[in-house]
Amino acid sequence: MRDRQSFIESVYPSLRQGRLALEARGSSQVTEHDGYIAGDEWADYWKGRDERTLSASQLEKYAECPMRYFFQYVLRIRVKDQVTFDRTSWLKPNERGSLLHEVYRRYMTEVSASKVMPITHDHARLLRIAEETILLYAERIPAPSPHVFERERQAMLRDVDVFYRMELQAKTAPRFFEQELIVDGQPLHLELGEDMAITLRGIVDRIDQVAPHQYRIIDYKTGSPRSYKENGVFAGGTQLQHALYAMGTELWMRQTGVDSDAKVLEASYVFPSERGHGQVIARPQTERNRVTAVIRGILLSMEQGLFIPASNPAVCRYCDYAAVCGEHAEMMAHKRKDEANSELLHTLLEVENIE
Ligand code: SF4
Repeated sequence: MRDRQSFIESVYPSLRQGRLALEARGSSQVTEHDGYIAGDEWADYWKGRDERTLSASQLEKYAECPMRYFFQYVLRIRVKDQVTFDRTSWLKPNERGSLLHEVYRRYMTEVSASKVMPITHDHARLLRIAEETILLYAERIPAPSPHVFERERQAMLRDVDVFYRMELQAKTAPRFFEQELIVDGQPLHLELGEDMAITLRGIVDRIDQVAPHQYRIIDYKTGSPRSYKENGVFAGGTQLQHALYAMGTELWMRQTGVDSDAKVLEASYVFPSERGHGQVIARPQTERNRVTAVIRGILLSMEQGLFIPASNPAVCRYCDYAAVCGEHAEMMAHKRKDEANSELLHTLLEVENIE
C-alpha cells in the first residue's frame, strides 16, 4: 500500500501536498498550513508595502479572525456575487442599516440646522423623511411583494419611533453627521505613541458637543447589542472603533481648525431600533494606553505572519470562507494551548484576552 501511495503521489504531486497539509494541521505545531507565514521575508514585505492604511474595522476583523483578514485584505479573495430571489424578505441587513442611517442623518441635519438648542423635535417631519427614504429604496431595490414591503416598512417605522423617543431625551448638541475623518482629502495619520502610527480612514456617524471643547461621538447600530458587553471595552480587539474614532475626531478637529482644544470624552454605540431597544453602550475614553497596547499587539501579530483561524469557531457560521476552512478553527483549539506554540502565539493570545 505504501508503495502504491508513493507511486500515486509521484504522479499527482498535489495529492502529496494535500496529505502533508492535513498531517501538519493534525500536529501540535502551528505551521504554514494553519496560516503562519514564517521568516523575515514576510515581516519585511509587510512593513514595506505602500498601502498601509488601516480602518478600525480592518483591525477589528483581524482580532476576530486573522485568517479571514488574510483572505479578505491580503489575498483579496471574495465570494462570487450571487443574485438570489428571496420572496420572503426585501432589504438585506446592511441595506436596512443604510436606510435607517440616512433617515437619522437627514432628520437631525434638518432639525439642528438653526443651531438653536435645545432642538425642537418634529415627529411629522421625521415620518415624512422616513417614508421618502423608504420609497427611494423601493425604487432602487424592488420588494418581492406588497405584503413583504409593508411588513418591513412598518418594522422600520417602529425603529424610527424608538429613535425619536431617544432624541426627545437627548441633552447634547449635535455638531456633525457622517463626518469623514480626512484632512485635505487625505486620511489621518494617527500617532499611537513611541514608534507606532497608523493611517486611519473612517466616518463618524455623529459628533455631539457636551460642553466647551468637550465632545461625544456616536455610532448608530441597527443590529443586536448582544455582542457589546457593558464591561468588555475592547472585547479581545474586536471593538476598537470607539477608541480610534475618538482619537481620530480630536485630531481631525485640531487639524481642520474646528476646535484646537477638542477632547472626546465618550464614544457611544447607540441602538435606535426596536431590536436594539434604544440601548446606549457608552465607552468613556479614559483608557488610551490600553487601546495603544491592543493595536500594537495586532500590528505585531500581523508582522509575525500570524493569520490563524478564529479563536471562537462560532464566528465561522456566518463567514464567507467557511467552505474553505471547514473545521480548521476547532482543530486549532489545542494548538492555541500547546506549550510548543506559546512563544509564537503569545502576543496574539494576549490581544484576544483583553476585555
Ligand atoms: S471560516 Fe472561520 S476560521 Fe475560516 S476564515 Fe472564516 S471565521 Fe476564520
